[in-house]
Amino acid sequence: MPDLHVVPPVFGYVIAGVFGAIIGSFLNVVVHRVPIDESIVFPNSRCPSCGAAIAFYDNIPVLSYIVLRAKCRHCKEHISFRYPAVELLTAALFVAVAWHDGLSAALPFDLIFASALLALVFIDAEHMILPNMITYPGIIFALVARVVIPYLGGSPHFDDLPSLSQGALAGMPIWVVSLVGALIGALLGGGSLWLMGWTWEKLRGIEAMGLGDVKMMFMVGAYLGWRLTILTIFVGVFTGSIIGIFLMVRSGQRNMQMLLPFGVFLGLGAIAALLFGAPVVEWYAGQFR
Ligand SMILES: [Zn+2]
Repeated sequence: MPDLHVVPPVFGYVIAGVFGAIIGSFLNVVVHRVPIDESIVFPNSRCPSCGAAIAFYDNIPVLSYIVLRAKCRHCKEHISFRYPAVELLTAALFVAVAWHDGLSAALPFDLIFASALLALVFIDAEHMILPNMITYPGIIFALVARVVIPYLGGSPHFDDLPSLSQGALAGMPIWVVSLVGALIGALLGGGSLWLMGWTWEKLRGIEAMGLGDVKMMFMVGAYLGWRLTILTIFVGVFTGSIIGIFLMVRSGQRNMQMLLPFGVFLGLGAIAALLFGAPVVEWYAGQFR
């Protein structure tokens, strides 16, 4: 393998950004088709207005939108700004994850995890659902990553591994320790969301949140471990409440859950925890030492 460390960092970030824009283009398809149970592979992309197949040269992330001046080549119907926006956001996310991970074996795993979260955020924002088609494979993926990543070398990638391998699990194989960490995180993440929904239901007599949030937090908890999961829930509830109260005041609607796709805030919270969480929880834990 060539020594990739001689590649200038800026060049690496450009590659990450371009790759992110391409994945963002794919996420556009996922966000559009998964909620209506369509295949994400066939058929090729078509104009939602006239149904004309979109040629590959009109399907280049961001650039085609600019070249076509936001109009379909065939019917001249306006193309939503959402498409290049998703591509640009995914590109920015990939640059951020590459900055966080550097050139490590965990980088592709973190990119997949962050991409799945971003897809869930967009789908929840538009349809108020978190499809099983993403959360179930997401949970499996998190467990596989938990077993595989510790053997790929480098630092202990998962935030909870150093403390877990010192306690009662000392001497256990690293994949066992890692899976126990995944289990604790998943039960904490999914469990607390389930408990929040259950409490709300008892208090108000209405169903508070779908199990989509619970399944998404199983995935997040398994991947991030318990400390970053607590941070995710904290960030999600805090930002969600602020936006929710703002929306309630503005619209006069008294029922926050009717307005609020909570998965959006949990998903963004999980991405923030992945990128910036480790120093935050480390600082917080330091206050008690
Ligand atoms: Zn068209």
